[in-house]
Amino acid sequence: MARCQQIKNQRIDSIVTTSTQYTVAALGEFGLISRITARVAPHESVITGIGDDAAVTAHTPGMRLLTSTDMLLENVHFRRAWHDPYTLGRKSLAVSISDIAAMGGIPRWALLSVAMPSDLPLDFIDDFMRGFLECASENRVTLIGGDTCSSRSGVTISVTIMGEQFPDRIVRRSGAQPDDDIWVSGTLGDAALGLRLLENGESVPEALLSRILNPTPRVTVALALAEAGLATAMIDVSDGIRADFGHIAEISGVGGTLLIADLPLSDMFRSQTAHLPAIPCHYALSGGEDYEICFTAHRSNRGKIVGCAKKCGIAVTRIGIVTKFSGVSVLNRDGSQFTALTEGFNHFI
Ligand code: ADP
Ligand code: MG
Repeated sequence: MARCQQIKNQRIDSIVTTSTQYTVAALGEFGLISRITARVAPHESVITGIGDDAAVTAHTPGMRLLTSTDMLLENVHFRRAWHDPYTLGRKSLAVSISDIAAMGGIPRWALLSVAMPSDLPLDFIDDFMRGFLECASENRVTLIGGDTCSSRSGVTISVTIMGEQFPDRIVRRSGAQPDDDIWVSGTLGDAALGLRLLENGESVPEALLSRILNPTPRVTVALALAEAGLATAMIDVSDGIRADFGHIAEISGVGGTLLIADLPLSDMFRSQTAHLPAIPCHYALSGGEDYEICFTAHRSNRGKIVGCAKKCGIAVTRIGIVTKFSGVSVLNRDGSQFTALTEGFNHFI
């Protein structure tokens, strides 16, 4: 090792041990990159990881590469006052992994670009990376590179994720057929309800808070459905089920009917809204950030789908039917068309 590199490393080590007093500026761009690199576990698929001009990876023969990228901007997608850096690190990767899952892909490699103010405490980036890399290891994703810059206004995070899958197992948004069932994993509306409580300054139960701050990408169930060839179309629910199923419908050239009575709501969601004249289905239908998986499937596969999800430890619920005619309609329990007025969410805010 060159003498100057040794000196540089010693400096980094001394900064590492007393990080609380330091800002990212004290460590500098290359110090930060070294600090990140030291925490990345190697993986057999990564031939050259962080540290060269480009990463070199070995893909699985016969599989296609799936790539997706997402940005998270301070005060647009997160607030530093609400999101602690550890869960923000987890979420930054989790939402990207969710996109690979929604294609039936196996998440593999990630690139992380961060812009941050130079007075950002080093602890922030340390905790952020701890969360990011924990989520990576839970999902067998390896960080293979990125970019580090200073910013004059807030923290910006950009994550590019890559995954793989055999061509015939990839599930697109475009495959929904009339009369298919519409399914969704988990429960809907928890994150949106939690966010509303947070914005109103009310106390937010942990079960709702964790759905906003620390979403779990539904990789296992999405992958199992794709590998079993059970889903005709799939999408992850980030903008609310009505809008996200709407994307499937539009691109598949079909429509759909969603049934309010069948939307899966968590016990916490029900108890938090029990005092209201009607359950505020607005959150479950149009609230964002559920990060559940919505998919369509032939009705002959109902039993197999339930069995497949059960093995993955997550419930899936049938919430509607794909129709020949375009447009997504939402029906109340009595069969009438759902409108915001009938659900009473206005009373809630
Ligand atoms: P270049 O000048 O070619 O852009 P950099 O000096 O920015 O290279 O980056 C050096 C190496 O560190 C590259 O391998 C890059 O992918 C990696 N890298 C930079 N920032 C990050 C980061 N925030 N997370 C992970 N890897 C990073
Ligand atoms: Mg660079």
